[in-house]
Amino acid sequence: ISPLLSILYIHRRMYREAAVKKEEYQVLEELGRGRFGTVFRCFHRTSNKFYAAKLIEKRRLLNEDRRCIEMEAKAMSFLSPHPNILQIMDAFEDADSCSIVLELCQPHTLLDRIAAQGPLTEPHAASLLKQLLEAVAHCHAQGLAHRDIKPENILFDEGNKLKLSDFGSAEWLGEGSSMSGVVGTPYYVAPEVIMGREYDEKVDVWSSGVILYAMLAGFPPFYGESAPEIFESVLRANLRFPSLIFSSVSAPAKDLLRKMISRDPSNRISAHQALRQSSFH
Ligand code: AMP
Repeated sequence: ISPLLSILYIHRRMYREAAVKKEEYQVLEELGRGRFGTVFRCFHRTSNKFYAAKLIEKRRLLNEDRRCIEMEAKAMSFLSPHPNILQIMDAFEDADSCSIVLELCQPHTLLDRIAAQGPLTEPHAASLLKQLLEAVAHCHAQGLAHRDIKPENILFDEGNKLKLSDFGSAEWLGEGSSMSGVVGTPYYVAPEVIMGREYDEKVDVWSSGVILYAMLAGFPPFYGESAPEIFESVLRANLRFPSLIFSSVSAPAKDLLRKMISRDPSNRISAHQALRQSSFH
């Protein structure tokens, strides 16, 4: 058969399989909305288990969006199983939509937790940081950088275990080569990314350090009224520990923050080294 016909054949078979798979899931209530799709709780009839299904309408997707969705599914399957990385259970696609089935988490992210509780206690922050760094060190050891680590992308399963999610901006680490391109979210993005320089997986260590600061303080270390103001503050990288909040934070926790939120990536510790220092409380 001609290449075109074989593509049509593959698609037809894939779409038929998708129709069968779709039938296996009963879609329940909405859990949240993301950049590309809506996440629903769903019931898998064959296993009698509940999952989360991300449903993405293909109509409005740009090529860059497709790349993110493909990367998300690819990276999650490549990294699974890991206790602190959100597990992908299934993925299927028909002519109109894609569905990604994920392990089910609580609908509240780390951002909601910090917003509701304010600063977390140091032992609580240390326990969450350790789980986050386990996930980040695993990504780096497998040759992937996440590139968009932020509290909104940190979920918790029913047993309260931390799960790193949203691998749409992830990138493979080349042999000795660096990445470029501005990705990430203003409060958490590393200075070398804003400067438009080439960078490596240490950008994830910076973001994880900013998250540790936000967990201990209840607010991020670099802020401003607008994205450009936040970027300026990140570029200055003037890390302060206001005594009102930080007088009760231990010296090893502050030491770890300085090592993770180091402006120069060559002086910044690796995720693996940070993990070894993460039991600071
Ligand atoms: P996302 O498209 O990945 O940004 O997800 C949008 C929102 O859906 C998140 O902020 C969560 O509130 C919710 N959500 C995403 N994945 C899950 C999941 N596996 N379990 C429960 N809720 C989820």
